[in-house]
Amino acid sequence: MNFDNLGLLPDLVKAVNDRGYSQPTPIQIKSIPLVLDGQDILAAAQTGTGKTAAFVLPILQRLAFVGLARRKQVRTLILTPTRELASQVHESVETYGHYLDLRSAVVFGGVRAEPQIAALERGVDTLVATPGRLLDLAQRGAVDFSALEVLVLDEADRMLDMGFIHDIRRIVEQLPKNRQTLMFSATFSKEIRLLAGQYLVDAVSVEV
Ligand code: AMP
Repeated sequence: MNFDNLGLLPDLVKAVNDRGYSQPTPIQIKSIPLVLDGQDILAAAQTGTGKTAAFVLPILQRLAFVGLARRKQVRTLILTPTRELASQVHESVETYGHYLDLRSAVVFGGVRAEPQIAALERGVDTLVATPGRLLDLAQRGAVDFSALEVLVLDEADRMLDMGFIHDIRRIVEQLPKNRQTLMFSATFSKEIRLLAGQYLVDAVSVEV
């Protein structure tokens, strides 16, 4: 199995190969075709399995086929528990999207909001965010979710452990209902299943 067989665009395969990867990991083999197909997924994946590329690659491919985000709009929102993870995921978005004409941004707390507001102003195709700062920016009117197509909850179990459930709920309430939702979690507590039941539609479970 290689990345071409998964139905990815040559521009994405090239970016992946540039990074030095020739073989997709099991989570990538299972998730990429489902996400390209527009399915909601609930994936059991630990860090280190290649889960980031499992959602970033197919999302970039979906975004590449339709026009750019307009002013303040966000087309894909990736929520992560920590600023470190947000930065890493954003770095993957930039690396894998190297040959595509798409815009991305990352926002998290603990730093000034103004540069983040400026980054959002023109519109971004992919926004990686921690929940608290994103909610703050949304309340300031810095983000327009009306064109949102895909929501990713990355490390959902850690976000719940860190007490982000209320922030997540307040964000998801603002998103269009007609969207694709992907949830990644290392563990499956009752709370995670409850959240998946509320936010995912006809979800496919992915386990590796
Ligand atoms: P993640 O689980 O997304 O945190 O990824 C773990 C590490 O594996 C990261 O350093 C990735 O860059 C790397 N990685 C992702 N996909 C592949 C792949 N197909 N082959 C080799 N390494 C990969």
